[in-house]
Amino acid sequence: MIYLDHHATTPVDARVLEAMLPFFTEKFGNASSRTHRFGWEANEAVERARKQVASLMGASAREVVFTSGATEATHLAIAGGTAVAPAGRRHIVTVATEHKAVLDPCRQLAASGWTVTELPVAPTGLVDVDAVARAITPGTALVSVMLANNEIGVLQPVADIARLAHAQGALMHTDAVQALGKVAVDVATLGVDLASFSAHKLYGPKGVGALYVKRGVEKQLGAPVRGGGQERGLRGGTLNVPGIVGFGAACEVAGHEMQVEAHRVSALRDRLWQLLQERVGGVTMNGAESPRLPGNLNVGFAGVEGESLLVGLTDVAASSGAACTSAEPSHVLVALGLDKTGALASLRLGLGRWTTAEEIDRAAAHLADVVAHLRRSAPATRLAAAGASR
Ligand SMILES: *Cc1c(COP(=O)(O)O)cnc(C)c1O
Repeated sequence: MIYLDHHATTPVDARVLEAMLPFFTEKFGNASSRTHRFGWEANEAVERARKQVASLMGASAREVVFTSGATEATHLAIAGGTAVAPAGRRHIVTVATEHKAVLDPCRQLAASGWTVTELPVAPTGLVDVDAVARAITPGTALVSVMLANNEIGVLQPVADIARLAHAQGALMHTDAVQALGKVAVDVATLGVDLASFSAHKLYGPKGVGALYVKRGVEKQLGAPVRGGGQERGLRGGTLNVPGIVGFGAACEVAGHEMQVEAHRVSALRDRLWQLLQERVGGVTMNGAESPRLPGNLNVGFAGVEGESLLVGLTDVAASSGAACTSAEPSHVLVALGLDKTGALASLRLGLGRWTTAEEIDRAAAHLADVVAHLRRSAPATRLAAAGASR
């Protein structure tokens, strides 16, 4: 089976695994133990990883708070960033195409009396910066707009939005999970206060992530997970030392290989798109062609039923939306203006570090077979409506 679901998760790079292994067994210390070598060794490894992670995002090590993943990092940003907001600020601005890790905590705040503006996007998937400007007021506590979308791969104008947020005195958070290690991420250039990251999206282990907290911003942050005082009191709990070491190693590898890899992967993605247009026909690219992540392609197939498409796809691992909500039509595609049928008849194809040209050719051939078969067996009315060629 050809794995084209790298937005859901990525395999751990062998170099990352190798770096992690000693920290499960002989170097098993608790990074908070101050009285012996076991603790010192674990702490040193964590601090080395903190530098590696910070370096890939252009932060300083002190600005990195390790968490159990991006969902928790985002919770710290949104629940934490609103917990100690001044009384006059009870408003959040976000976007309809955000990951559920952002939308759910915002909706939870809405249920407890906050005003939440979920801005729509254009058919390109991009939010209108003027609309963001109009939405942010002196009553806004936090603005959260993702850097790279996990379904359609488009890159939002985060730096422009951060300027607008700061002009009104609001905190700026970005979910930069899909961008890290794929495209250049520099928190200073982006001008954000808070940014969420996850190791398992860049060939690191699952269950570890980080929140970038700009120097000084920690004073504006409550800590939803307390106890033990780890991570400067911002996130309590014994550190996941092997996971953190793996996150660090994954960032180090990505820093060295990202540029060459982005070039290679985007060429393969373009080849896949070309082949799908030639061999399948009746395809549309969901979201703007650029700016987009190098490994992302989101394709709508006219005249097929979404569920049969996923069932028929025996040789390619892909999904029609985010892994967490794969049975429903994607809220991201619906926000682009697709109807339920169109959203379900779409595939998110995510290429990765070990995707080969041969795999792309086989995946395109398989998709052509599956789609042709589904179109042959589809009711004539649906084919006519779709105007499909085969
Ligand atoms: C995967 C993902 C998350 C969640 O990350 P976890 O570490 O799995 O909690 C959040 N946002 C985006 C854009 C993602 O792709």
